[in-house]
Amino acid sequence: MPNILTPKNIVTRFAPSPTGFLHVGGMRTALFNYLFAKAHGGKFILRIEDTDKERSKKEYEEDIVAGLSWLSLSYDEIYRQSERGEIYKKHLQAMLYKGSAYEAEENSDGTGKVIRFKNPNGKITFKDMIRGDISFDTAELGDFVIAKDMQTPLFHLAVVVDDFEMGVTHIIRGEDHISNTPRQMLIQRAISAPEPLYAHIPLILAPDKSKLSKRHGAVSVNEYKAEGYLPEALINFLALLGWNPGTEKEIFTLSELIKEFNLEKVQKGGAVFDRTKLDWINREHLRKLPSKDLEIFVSDILKTQDSVLVKKITPLILERINKFSDINTMAAEGELAYFFERPQYSSEKLVWKKSDSKTTKRHIDRMIELFQNADFTSAESLKPAIWDYAEGEGRGDVLWPLRFALSGRDKSPDPFTIASILGKEETRERLRAASVKLGE
Ligand code: GLU
Repeated sequence: MPNILTPKNIVTRFAPSPTGFLHVGGMRTALFNYLFAKAHGGKFILRIEDTDKERSKKEYEEDIVAGLSWLSLSYDEIYRQSERGEIYKKHLQAMLYKGSAYEAEENSDGTGKVIRFKNPNGKITFKDMIRGDISFDTAELGDFVIAKDMQTPLFHLAVVVDDFEMGVTHIIRGEDHISNTPRQMLIQRAISAPEPLYAHIPLILAPDKSKLSKRHGAVSVNEYKAEGYLPEALINFLALLGWNPGTEKEIFTLSELIKEFNLEKVQKGGAVFDRTKLDWINREHLRKLPSKDLEIFVSDILKTQDSVLVKKITPLILERINKFSDINTMAAEGELAYFFERPQYSSEKLVWKKSDSKTTKRHIDRMIELFQNADFTSAESLKPAIWDYAEGEGRGDVLWPLRFALSGRDKSPDPFTIASILGKEETRERLRAASVKLGE
């Protein structure tokens, strides 16, 4: 890794074209620029590259701004290229005056005029902070078009003028922009702009190593938000797409990332997007949330005001989810319904394997008695009340009907957990209902 001296006043920028919703690749580019700037006490700029009037849409710009705000990636300044026409014009005029650009026919048939760059046709080498020396023979590029007219600069000119005018010191962007760099450096030299440092970050790949796209599932920030991922988890996950701290540590807050992030540890090879890892990271961040916050989410999603119940079921839910939308799935599959209403089932379901209804009724009646003075504070405190009895009579024979009487489901958390959440009255009431059913 070449040892590069970094200028004191670091300025980075995230320069999305608002032609689509903010996606994984954009978010990661924004994050790396943000982290690098903040790590050095520098400035992070958002620049909306909306010169393509047909494809740029306000709703996409709004989506980008909202996405960055949701992720807490605050920028110090925002610009829109569509509002900077005069600045590009000034540079175009100077270039035309100095002869580094000239007006020419657009097509050989003489239709329309454009402004072309006068290519000095040399060799260009730059030291990429991640990839090392990269060279291009610019003669192959010809006299490329930099503006349609004085009012309509094209991509490369606008980027270079802006990076110069905004004092951008480090250009951190996707590897797919490497091929743009020689054209941009030629323009830089023509307008006497200082050369920024470049860091081209690796592509994001799907698990099958193809380029990540829509067909691999969610890619836009909105989809992750809608699925109930935490923004801090997404940030943590995105940071590890191409970067690692060089230690075993994998769970980071944004401020920890600001302290630890550096471009030296960004890899050259593609970064594989692994959803299982995102789920794991999200779970770790969920566990770090204060229980009060989690309870707010749970009561919102389950649309219940019963704060006592919510407090009790939240830890149980937390054990079973990767992200908040999993709570909706649990609810839709009836996995939580029995906490809110008494279960419906037919009496045979209460009978464990080779047991019979008469024996099962006897066990249930006995449990009603044993639970009378039991401690329902937690699953652990409740267990001793019937544990010896269950061991003596056969665990399945006793615990299955208990669980089924409480949940009415073949699969559910263990009966002590459910009973401690339902409380003594409700547990004994459900057992009485089961006993009645078995007596019928
Ligand atoms: N506007 C370009 C894009 O969205 C990025 C330009 C740059 O980073 O230099 O791909």
